[in-house]
Amino acid sequence: MDKNIIRVFVILGELLVILVLTFIIFFVPGSSGNASETSTSGKALAAVKLSDTDSGTPAVSIAAVVPDKEATERARLERERIAEEARLAEEARLEEERIRLEEEARAEAAKKTAGAEETAALQANMYDYDAAIETLKAVPQYETRDDLKATVASYESARDKLVKWEDNTQISHLFVHSLIVDTSRAFRKGSSQPVGYNRYMTTVGEFKAMLESLYERGYVLVSMHDIAERYIDEDGTEKLRKKAIYLPEGKTPFVLSQDDVNYYAYMENDGFADKLVIGGDGRPTCQYTDVDGNVTFGEYDVLPIVDNFLLEHPDFSYRGAKGILAVTGYEGALGYDTGWHMYDLDDPAQKAKLEAEQEAAKKVADAIKADGWEFASHSYTHTDMKTNSFNKVVYDTDKWEREVQPILGETDLYIYPFGSDICDWRGYKGDKYEYLKKAGFWYFCNVDASRYWIQITDNYMRMGRINADGERMVKTPQKLDYFFDSAAILDKSRPALG
Ligand SMILES: [Zn+2]
Repeated sequence: MDKNIIRVFVILGELLVILVLTFIIFFVPGSSGNASETSTSGKALAAVKLSDTDSGTPAVSIAAVVPDKEATERARLERERIAEEARLAEEARLEEERIRLEEEARAEAAKKTAGAEETAALQANMYDYDAAIETLKAVPQYETRDDLKATVASYESARDKLVKWEDNTQISHLFVHSLIVDTSRAFRKGSSQPVGYNRYMTTVGEFKAMLESLYERGYVLVSMHDIAERYIDEDGTEKLRKKAIYLPEGKTPFVLSQDDVNYYAYMENDGFADKLVIGGDGRPTCQYTDVDGNVTFGEYDVLPIVDNFLLEHPDFSYRGAKGILAVTGYEGALGYDTGWHMYDLDDPAQKAKLEAEQEAAKKVADAIKADGWEFASHSYTHTDMKTNSFNKVVYDTDKWEREVQPILGETDLYIYPFGSDICDWRGYKGDKYEYLKKAGFWYFCNVDASRYWIQITDNYMRMGRINADGERMVKTPQKLDYFFDSAAILDKSRPALG
């Protein structure tokens, strides 16, 4: 072929190639960029395009921007993962806490139920079956607890067998004074009053034996408030009326009181308790100093002895009744020097001392009341209210109200000093009675060695008491035969009574 012809073909070929390339460049979409760009991900490309249109970022920066965005995204995902892990951990912790609280609540409920069962058993033991039934029925799981229902049924049956005490004016009332702990000190020649102690006091051993005998013979402690109750009559006035006492057949109610729970100074070093205090367990008890000066706490007087006896024999108490502690004021109360006249009240230091004694005595008194005991006024001056003038009764009552009542709290019980009643058996009338009544007293006790002696009117209750002391046990033991055998009980260390 002619060389020229070949050249023409080559030129034409070259023109064709140029034409084709021109076509491709100008008319095929997506082919205008760098070929290497097509390897980037669609996402990155879109981002680049977006950034191109948004901010006019030149295409050359794309390669640098894309790895940063990825790192940010990875970091974000990592943060999200960590946050999710934390959230799950918190959820697990809350679930654990919920389970723990549930378990605690279950344990608490079980404890409460056990506590309720214990309370109900005690209430039933003390003949308060209605209260016991109420206690058990208040247990949340009661409806599903067949054992509790069976116990309630047994309480109902026991309650239905109780007998109403026939005559509330036929109930005995025994009383003692502070008990002698150490007879060798009390009855020794040098004690404050060896003969007085022998006549009017009872020893710890004798008192414990009395309780055993009373319990064996079916006696049950009641409160004077169980015998008669105050109520508001239809006419709006407050009155007193008999209250029914329900005990099992064969049980006999009786009242116990203790006079002069003051631990007077004259008794110091004579073998009596020093004072009532709050024990380590929060319950009231006695402090006692022995002959060598050692101080101990425990059964050194009526209160802790009866308390401990009731722990063993709860059925010795009707609905929690314990006894009455009768307190005077002229030498303080309960073993504390709370008499105002015992201090120079113009001296701030002495005034502070009185206030400290008052505070301590009040704490003990509160614990004693919470323990189930009742307080009575035994007058302030311990003088004979029968022979006292009206003015002396007023003076005495006001003093008790001012100095003793703030410590013991209000009481409607009055126990006459020496058992000396203001009126005879025919009933109360006159200014002394009116004054005592106005001072808040409804229940009055004298001393009468009859088995029982009670008057209950709309306005007051009077009750005779029997002294369970040395003189009674020696001189007229037959008066005590209903309760115990004096000869068997009498402390061997007592000197002969003249
Ligand atoms: Zn007295």
